[in-house]
Amino acid sequence: MRLLSIIIIFTLSSTLYGQFHKCTTDHGPLIKRIEANKASIAANTVETRAGDPLYTPIKFHRVGRTDGTSYMAITSILDNMCKLGKDYGKFSDIVPYINGDFATLNSSAAFSQPWSNGAEAAMNNAADDESVNVFIVGNVDQAGGVGTTLGYYDPNFDFLVMRQLEVLDSTSTLSHELGHYFSLMHPFFGWEPSPYSVNEHGNPLQFSVVPGTNREIEMVDRARNCEFTGDRLCDTPASYLFGFSSDNSTSIANCNLTPNIFDLFGDQLVPMENNMMDYFPDCGEYAFTEQQAEVMHADFNSPSRSQIRSTYIPNTNEITSAPTQLFPATGDFVDAYNSVYFEWEAIEHADRYLVEIQDVFIGTKIEYITDSPNLWVTDLEANKKYAWFVHPFNETSACYKSSKVIFDTGSAVTSVEEIAGISSFDIYPNPVAGSTDITLAISSDNLQSLNITLKTVTGKLIESQFQTLHAGANALQLQLPNTPGIYLVQLQSENGLLTQRVVKQ
Ligand SMILES: [Zn+2]
Repeated sequence: MRLLSIIIIFTLSSTLYGQFHKCTTDHGPLIKRIEANKASIAANTVETRAGDPLYTPIKFHRVGRTDGTSYMAITSILDNMCKLGKDYGKFSDIVPYINGDFATLNSSAAFSQPWSNGAEAAMNNAADDESVNVFIVGNVDQAGGVGTTLGYYDPNFDFLVMRQLEVLDSTSTLSHELGHYFSLMHPFFGWEPSPYSVNEHGNPLQFSVVPGTNREIEMVDRARNCEFTGDRLCDTPASYLFGFSSDNSTSIANCNLTPNIFDLFGDQLVPMENNMMDYFPDCGEYAFTEQQAEVMHADFNSPSRSQIRSTYIPNTNEITSAPTQLFPATGDFVDAYNSVYFEWEAIEHADRYLVEIQDVFIGTKIEYITDSPNLWVTDLEANKKYAWFVHPFNETSACYKSSKVIFDTGSAVTSVEEIAGISSFDIYPNPVAGSTDITLAISSDNLQSLNITLKTVTGKLIESQFQTLHAGANALQLQLPNTPGIYLVQLQSENGLLTQRVVKQ
């Protein structure tokens, strides 16, 4: 919702100052829910916050166009997950976790007009019944109105919608929208139709109700009306949707309200600028108040949230480092482009690794997820310069990512091979640890001779020997170099070529 880099991008195309960003969550249904949650807190019908974590499953949906393009990069979702964990970890007992795989939804309507009927139906159909569903789309901004919509919580379908740019920049917008999911309202609720303006509403304020609405205005003095105005919570100070008036008579730039504003009783407004549910940009770390945390706790435990509650305990071990890439390393030349082996350091507590490989000049990216610290990739092109990095993660931790490593591919092809008369070719053990001896198990249909070569993964010849196979099972011994890495063992005869890779650890 508020992020410096977004504002920089936006000011490139806009000269309007103070046109910050917003979310279009419908607050009508939230009023009933927050009141119900306040009532259950007051009546002690929910357990009070005891510090037990409230594990909250998050299902991410990458919405692409109907042709299956334009998805949000998963590595950016992981960055945003890191942000979400930090935002909630310090100020509430909600513990968001990634539930399962990252889903995709191909719908141009949802991608560019998620509020339209067809799009809502498509997203609702794709939603996971036991998760908080987050749909990441290209655009959420409807024409008209002030500011740019960054995301929203849809109370009718009970899912969150985020625009890609917010995810890309790991703003606190997702944390804000999840606050709505748990029934929190904007502290400035009531002012949306006509944001506060010094010229229009006076300073000190001249109204007790927002003109043109029936919304009573929250006063600074908590003894007056904080229980049923604004966000209906009393430890979030009064706030009047500053910075959004068309005459730019207030500014919230740099997390600072100017000028000083006074309410109807002459009390100076002291908004909590860094409140997660307000709109102030550039506040660094945003926070929830104690009451906001209590309400979210009550909402999690309310009947309407039974679908996300379970006995499941996610992996909450923190990942504290990024891996170093082992192969390809910086500057490596990988001759055979169509079957490239990637390997990196295993990272403690990482259950999965996201590998991103980017064409350096064109910028196109491919992403893979694997649960082991290595990967075979067959999708690369010949004679290209690629950058790759690894992003280790588990359900709740995703804050470290490797640096980029750049390598080149050549034009050699590791073909889809066969040798007539050879029905199987395997290497044992593979990977090889604590030894250099390997056995080649080869089944041959007939007596035949062939050449066996051992090469590095980049194609450099290490050894070559001539062997004769008999009909049936053959077991041939071979010795690898001591150096850890990937080696190619090739069988070659006049009848064809076969290659197997073996990993020396
Ligand atoms: Zn909002």
